[in-house]
Amino acid sequence: MLKFNLALFSDRQEYDLEIKKTDPIFHKDFKIAEDFLINLALTKDKDSTVIVEGTLSGAIFLECGRCLKQYTHELELNFVTIFKDKAVYTKEDELSEVEVFKGNELDLYEYLRETIILDMPLKPVCTEDCKGICSICGKDRNVEKCGCETKGNDSPFVDLKNIIK
Ligand SMILES: [Zn+2]
Ligand SMILES: [Zn+2]
Repeated sequence: MLKFNLALFSDRQEYDLEIKKTDPIFHKDFKIAEDFLINLALTKDKDSTVIVEGTLSGAIFLECGRCLKQYTHELELNFVTIFKDKAVYTKEDELSEVEVFKGNELDLYEYLRETIILDMPLKPVCTEDCKGICSICGKDRNVEKCGCETKGNDSPFVDLKNIIK
């Protein structure tokens, strides 16, 4: 569903797509929490290039790195990129991160997958003040206070700091 036939239009074509959360399309990388709405504009340019502009909104599930609970990460993406026909694709294009298509078929799957993955936080947290799981008793400290003695800082680097001192 993310493949577009470039023979079907001469200069510019817009598309409104929906990817339902039940659609397994990206299932290897993430789970869709809210249906994706994608607006796309494909513009044919000179030198066998196509300019792809678009927006994507929706949400995916991520796991909080502190409490390990699943939470919803909203996506509001704007993207613009250039695709070029493989027949005229050069090393220079590759270095300037120009994407590639073959024949009349432009496939946006891989590009969108990467765009979404790049938007994911490096350290996912459900909320900024998530208290996480107690490293001593294993209780979720968002739910109950366990009363274990923790030395103020929950950073995994705290022990390292003490060693360096
Ligand atoms: Zn959390
Ligand atoms: Zn505890």
